[in-house]
Amino acid sequence: MPRPTTASAALFERARAVTPGGVNSPVRAFNAVGGTPRFIRSAAGAWLTDADGNEYVDLICSWGPMLLGHAHPEVQARVAEAVARGTSYGAPTEPEVELAEEIVARTPVERVRFVSSGTEATMSAIRLARGFTGRDVVVKFAGCYHGHVDSLLASAGSGLATFAVPGTPGVPASSTELTLVLPYNDRAAVEKVFAEYPDRIACLITEAAPGNMGVVPPEPGFNAFLAETCTRHGALFVSDEVMTGFRASKLGQWGLDGAVEGWRPDLVTFGKVMGGGFPAAAFGGRADVMSRLAPEGPVYQAGTLSGNPIATTAGLATLRLATDEVYAHIGAAADTIRAAASDALTAAGVTHVVQATGTMFSIFFTGGDGGRVRDFEDASRTDSAAYAAFFHAMLDAGVYLPPSAYEAWFLSAAHDDRAVQTVLDALPGAARAAAAAQA
Ligand SMILES: *Cc1c(COP(=O)(O)O)cnc(C)c1O
Repeated sequence: MPRPTTASAALFERARAVTPGGVNSPVRAFNAVGGTPRFIRSAAGAWLTDADGNEYVDLICSWGPMLLGHAHPEVQARVAEAVARGTSYGAPTEPEVELAEEIVARTPVERVRFVSSGTEATMSAIRLARGFTGRDVVVKFAGCYHGHVDSLLASAGSGLATFAVPGTPGVPASSTELTLVLPYNDRAAVEKVFAEYPDRIACLITEAAPGNMGVVPPEPGFNAFLAETCTRHGALFVSDEVMTGFRASKLGQWGLDGAVEGWRPDLVTFGKVMGGGFPAAAFGGRADVMSRLAPEGPVYQAGTLSGNPIATTAGLATLRLATDEVYAHIGAAADTIRAAASDALTAAGVTHVVQATGTMFSIFFTGGDGGRVRDFEDASRTDSAAYAAFFHAMLDAGVYLPPSAYEAWFLSAAHDDRAVQTVLDALPGAARAAAAAQA
């Protein structure tokens, strides 16, 4: 049964009059699935409540950050205490030091600098890589999203080793003419560009495990290969863990590969979970590279609200509560939902591929390439009409999925039996709706 949307529709109309598309980040507008975007009034634990009073199990968790669930009492308490002390000073504070120590203790980075968004983190990491190496070319992969940085909003040029073209109007060709875009999981393509541009590549940036084209895990050894190739050619390996950091596992994606295999990225970017639901992000890495950053070194970077005491307090409280038990719980709930979704889709005859890395997973409405989605080209074959039907059937049954077929599903420590059961109950009907809409 469709749920009432009168209040959300009224807010959407007001929003569209004053904000482009009525939203402050495009995916929220539901353009990929149609219908009225739900305006959220409040959230608690695993549940969202919209402006019409409808409740939904939240499988987005603010696109990752809400690892502990919404309105966690202890995080709320720490934030309330911090707010009472004032909200921003433009001077250094103790919570920044504590959060930096926590991140350095848990990840491969030796030094870390805070910024306010993942976009700022990747932009700054690339500037630092260029400043450190004295080189200018950046290599990235198609389908990896690193925020809306000009030079990274790039599409592959006409050949594999040719420079990229702007991925959106507003990015000048001069901003992408030093970017090379390669197919993900393709070692030969990586070898080829390093051979083609010796001594010119400043860094290779990759999502530690892509989650922004749906979850496309690196093939075994792929990240180690990237790290080794960069080192061999005097380039820096920049691992973007904005999504996977403190999410895929307690140590991020690196906990699933680098920590086991014994290699470290030169630079790492973080965001989402580390901000505990506030605008906070970071980049960090090797001490000798990070020391090139102002004021210690010559590479300029700054931010009025960087390391904001409320955001760092929320991030610190979140990370301290993100114990092994939290990851075990999220992993188990994710396994249950993933298996049930696949069973329901199979029973309804919907072609699909389920992929996961750690506690993150997604479902592609395509057969992939031999049952596997290994790059953006495979992911692009998703049947978006089938996904839209699936999405709306889930929404009507009280489950809030990502309003796009190319996103990961996120759970939290607050996804208890009742929340998981609500998802399981919704799946068979949604799978049948997807089957009916299948192209
Ligand atoms: C979300 C994300 C970003 C951008 O972060 P913002 O805070 O939205 O600017 C960058 N990289 C990855 C991998 C992300 O998932």
